[in-house]
Amino acid sequence: MVDDVERAVAERECRDLWEQVFQVNPGKGGKYYLNVAFPYPSGAMHVGHGRTYTVPDVIARFCRMRGRKVLFPMGFHVTGTPVIGISRRIAKGDEKTIRLYRDLYRVSQEEINQFTDPMVIVRHFSGEYERVMRSLGLSIDWRRRFITVDPHYSKFIEWQYKHLGEKGYVVKGIHPVKYCPQCENPVGDHDLLEGDKSEIIKFTLVIFRYGDALIPTATLRPETIYGVTNIWVNPAVAYVKTRIDNVIYILSREAAEKLRIQDHTVEIIDELSPGALIDQRVSHPLCGEITVLPAEFVDPDMGSGIVMSVPAHAPFDYIALRDLQERGMYREIVPIPLLSVEGYGAWPAKDAVERAQINNQQDPRMESITQDVYSTEFMRGTMFPQFGGKAVREARDEVAALMVERYGSLYLFDFDIRPVVCRCGGRVYVKILRDQWFLQYSDAGWKEMVYDQLARMDLVPPEVRAEFARTVGWLKDWACTRRVGLGTKLPWDPAWIIEPLSDSTIYMAYYTIAHQIKAIEPSKLTPEVFDYIFLGRETPHLPKRALLDAMREEFLYWYPYDFRFSAKDLISNHLTFQLFHHLAIFPPELQPQGIVVFGMGLLNGAKMSSSKGNVVLLEDAIDEFGADAVRMFLLGSAEPWQDFDWRNELVHATRKQIERFSTTVTEAYGQTTDRQGGQVGVWLLSRLQSRIERVTAAMEGFQTRQALQEAFHGSELDLKWYRQRRGTEPPGPELSLLINTWIRLLAPYIPYTCERLWHHIGKQELVCSAPWPTPNKALVNTGVELAEELIQRTMEDVASIMKLIKINPASITLFCAPAWKWQIFRTIGASNDRRGALREVMQDAEMRKRGKAAAEATNQVATLIHRLSPELIDQLMTTQVDEVAVFSEAKAFLERGFGIPVYIEAAERSTHPKAANALPFKPAIQIG
Ligand SMILES: [Zn+2]
Repeated sequence: MVDDVERAVAERECRDLWEQVFQVNPGKGGKYYLNVAFPYPSGAMHVGHGRTYTVPDVIARFCRMRGRKVLFPMGFHVTGTPVIGISRRIAKGDEKTIRLYRDLYRVSQEEINQFTDPMVIVRHFSGEYERVMRSLGLSIDWRRRFITVDPHYSKFIEWQYKHLGEKGYVVKGIHPVKYCPQCENPVGDHDLLEGDKSEIIKFTLVIFRYGDALIPTATLRPETIYGVTNIWVNPAVAYVKTRIDNVIYILSREAAEKLRIQDHTVEIIDELSPGALIDQRVSHPLCGEITVLPAEFVDPDMGSGIVMSVPAHAPFDYIALRDLQERGMYREIVPIPLLSVEGYGAWPAKDAVERAQINNQQDPRMESITQDVYSTEFMRGTMFPQFGGKAVREARDEVAALMVERYGSLYLFDFDIRPVVCRCGGRVYVKILRDQWFLQYSDAGWKEMVYDQLARMDLVPPEVRAEFARTVGWLKDWACTRRVGLGTKLPWDPAWIIEPLSDSTIYMAYYTIAHQIKAIEPSKLTPEVFDYIFLGRETPHLPKRALLDAMREEFLYWYPYDFRFSAKDLISNHLTFQLFHHLAIFPPELQPQGIVVFGMGLLNGAKMSSSKGNVVLLEDAIDEFGADAVRMFLLGSAEPWQDFDWRNELVHATRKQIERFSTTVTEAYGQTTDRQGGQVGVWLLSRLQSRIERVTAAMEGFQTRQALQEAFHGSELDLKWYRQRRGTEPPGPELSLLINTWIRLLAPYIPYTCERLWHHIGKQELVCSAPWPTPNKALVNTGVELAEELIQRTMEDVASIMKLIKINPASITLFCAPAWKWQIFRTIGASNDRRGALREVMQDAEMRKRGKAAAEATNQVATLIHRLSPELIDQLMTTQVDEVAVFSEAKAFLERGFGIPVYIEAAERSTHPKAANALPFKPAIQIG
């Protein structure tokens, strides 16, 4: 076996030879265009990425061998704020970030020092990605590589947005964002020291009247206003009297500050002493007059710092009220139910608290039972008839709208998890951006186009179809611009930058021209130029007309793309967005044709995560096991849509398998002779034809694991049997044919090994461009296949009987079933009603004569058939197997195998009691 250094050299030589093959231009013959979600290169690649790119590569290599022109391109996505955040953290000397880059990604300190410029990070890692992708053997046309901040690409995005804008798909609206007042900037999750998982939630402020002032209570469930019995204030908090937009409110100081950032004029007038509000009376038209009660669970930094109490439906409210009542206070208050929900009584909050046996407000389980009650009521609750009788899901938005329209409610945005802290150390707030641009994914007509396209598409695996439909259904308008980050400026409002998920939706079209467009200066790339290339629209005075024609021709050659590959977590955004955009920009005949969705990667059973260090770097894996072993493991351990689990010991075992394959092929090639290999030689070639068929079918269905099993292990088993049957006889020419085919079937998976072996067996051309094997029907011989299968099955039966008996056996006798039992076999095999088979068998007069023996045989044969595969039954129905002849031919082989004499008898000519047990394709066995 070649050692690691030799292997590395051989792999490099291979890559040099491949380069030309993977650079593809339009030409004769069918085309196949597949692409994969491009990576965001801000750290090193791990083995999870390895699978994402190897699956399309195997398909690409397969299609190339089938004679298609195959385009597999790659670019790098670098827009947005992540690299800016990283460079800022490195500039500030953030230890955690520096450790990640120095220790896990192994970047030299010298380079890290330059990472204060985000473009250096982008260039470093996109270079690294390309290098590692090349060493993995990916068959990418690297001439088309680009990064999403290239000026040429920006011009393309400007063109895309010009069209989206003209078609009315980009609209202005308000948008809440995370905002750091110290930095005076919106902040992305990567810019946060704490709270990067926090989500922005929208509270409705339900406004209660208190004398001349108003008291806002924040709620996510405005429909529960009908069940309010009191409101809660924290007795330790000094609330403030505040003029907000010229109206006087009482709320927490923190809430006043939040409203100030959310575009209200806020002026604090006075501070109330703690407890001043307790026992005061307040009112709201929808619940009447109620009392203010004290509760310690009320957080002045959440919402308005004052909440309404719905003890029938909120566990915290229920338990706080119960505590007070147990101390003899507020006994007159009774929880008011407002909705019914299956599985709970009138007061769901009470049920939940009692079922969990919770005794006080501090119990840590309070959060989770609250979530249970809230989500159950939302999903399955129905409002009482006097409150409208609608599903809670519908009632919620309606009541919120009513509150705002008629009862002076405001909205307040806040975080669900706190604290949220900026990298600068300052606190992060929710700010409202008023002139934010949105892609109007809520547009019903646009959605309709996507539904129609999905119906025409090939989605793999089929179960993702429902998930796509769901995503299109709930998709709302998407804030598509940001104030900060790398990227393309919105053409008509250049203060905004198009955000990363919105500038990566039709770049598959850009790949088709990416290598040619570099010849044109970016300043000349007007929207008219792209209109010509992609839409065929003529305009006078276009630059470099001949080049534009070539690009248009190339675009039309490759488009529409055939398949896009991506992980399943992108269905809810990218994969669906790209359909919206294709439909908005390109004509119907150029729409996406198919999508293959991947499962996730695990490492020793746990989710892979770079930030937690739970990853194996792809490059390390390639260095340790070789690219082929990495590829074969990634594809052999699960189908693309299943999750896979990386385990070093299993990858090691895969490497051993490849070495075994390589040794087998090399040795066998040297031993082959011109002498035909008899029956088992015919068998080997016959088997090979169905293997080719099955591998090809599995590949066509993207079942890359199934195809590998067939190609690798299936062929290996066949070869083993062939050798066993040949004994000391040298292998015949059929073995050459097997080897020749075997190498080609495995070439997409382990390309380096297969190139070497292909060369070894004297081929001049590269295996990556050799023709994919096709089955030769003339070589299929079902009779011989059945004969060998009969021998294999019988040997297994003999072996298992031998294991059971204690004595040293002296001989084996095989009794073969008589013709009339085969007749029963065929009758049952052809019958639609196998349980009623006895009646059918007995319709035959000859059978009736056999009486009890025929009835018994029918039962036994029915049981036997039940255990055979439908495929095998079909073959046995149509092909005669002369069992005595089969075993007589194999007598010497069997005797060699078992080391004792083997006798073969027709059961009907024997008086031995065992002979009566002989069944078709299952001889009776006597070991003596
Ligand atoms: Zn800050």
